[in-house]
Amino acid sequence: MFPSRELGLVRKRLLGWFRQFHRDLPWRRTRDPYRIWLSEIMLQQTRVAAVIPYYERFLERFPDVRALAEAPQEEVLRLWSGLGYYSRARNLQKAAQEIVAKHHGKFPRDFDEALALPGIGQYTAAAILSIAYDAKHAVLDGNVARVLARLGAIRGDLREAKRWRNLQENADNLLDPKSPGEWNQAMMELGATVCAPRAPQCLLCSIAKVCRARQLGLAERLPEKRKKRATEEVTLAAAVFLDHRGRTFLLPPCGLKTRRAAKNEIAPLVSKMWHFPMVRVREHAAGELQSFLAELNPAVANHGAPLEPLSEARHAVTYRKITLLPFRVAVAALPVASGAKIVPLTDVSSLSSLAVSNLTRKIARAALAPRAAAATAR
Ligand code: SF4
Repeated sequence: MFPSRELGLVRKRLLGWFRQFHRDLPWRRTRDPYRIWLSEIMLQQTRVAAVIPYYERFLERFPDVRALAEAPQEEVLRLWSGLGYYSRARNLQKAAQEIVAKHHGKFPRDFDEALALPGIGQYTAAAILSIAYDAKHAVLDGNVARVLARLGAIRGDLREAKRWRNLQENADNLLDPKSPGEWNQAMMELGATVCAPRAPQCLLCSIAKVCRARQLGLAERLPEKRKKRATEEVTLAAAVFLDHRGRTFLLPPCGLKTRRAAKNEIAPLVSKMWHFPMVRVREHAAGELQSFLAELNPAVANHGAPLEPLSEARHAVTYRKITLLPFRVAVAALPVASGAKIVPLTDVSSLSSLAVSNLTRKIARAALAPRAAAATAR
């Protein structure tokens, strides 16, 4: 990407800028691989500002890899609750258990051994090993790829396999062998703060002089857009049972492949977390929910209590746009459903006791909203 006479200058300038202007983030104050690993996993698909309080709470409860390995999964998920993409938390704990079992509780230094851990891909392995151990592995994620595409005025879809391999080669060549961890963080920081997806701030960029996209006036047009996966619209109807003490019940995580998950087509959305009885709607929300409740377990059917429609809510998960249609079912006594947990409705909303997704929390909030705000009958 750069002739060797320029390479030294690029490294010096970018590292100089990073040392002076980097953001002070909690995971930048440590070389502990466990803490760096946790930050990298939490930061996947999630903004820095949202991660910080979760990161700090998580470390208070699980200060090291052994504490995480030994914890009940339910507790790990509860502390992750609201951060989304819960497979990250499950894999994190599985990997912690492997590290204890196979690596004496120490995060492996070997790249292939790190890569073999659940939830750890090329990028994450390179980030952890370079930052914690100064190992010479260059990171490549969307942010770094964008910076590289602009520096080299690289056109086309960056995620195409061959182009991505070329980008990795460029990243490897650019890596500063004397400070690989710092170099990787500098590239990530540049992508996150200055060389942003929209409106890159080239006037503030320490390496603007060598940037081909800037020279060609292409900075804002690169990288070229990828074809987007089509958005899928999904409607879910959920039953919020409520007794006279303000208590409701949630169904337990049921796994992706169970009959219940398949039958009501909620598998990728909530089936791994505690959730209200719910069904994917085809035509008539109330009727389909009613039949689902009766089929699921006669004890959960509403015994003739009316389904009272509540305000609808919106939710989005990756390419799915979800419309939530909650119904309140007022009952004298909550039906007994296998594995269900009875909780105060306010607990679901505040997430104080169970691992639930934001989707379930939104349904709980709709059920707690004033009656005047409720939707008209569906
Ligand atoms: Fe990005 Fe602009 Fe710097 Fe080029 S000059 S790397 S486009 S911020």
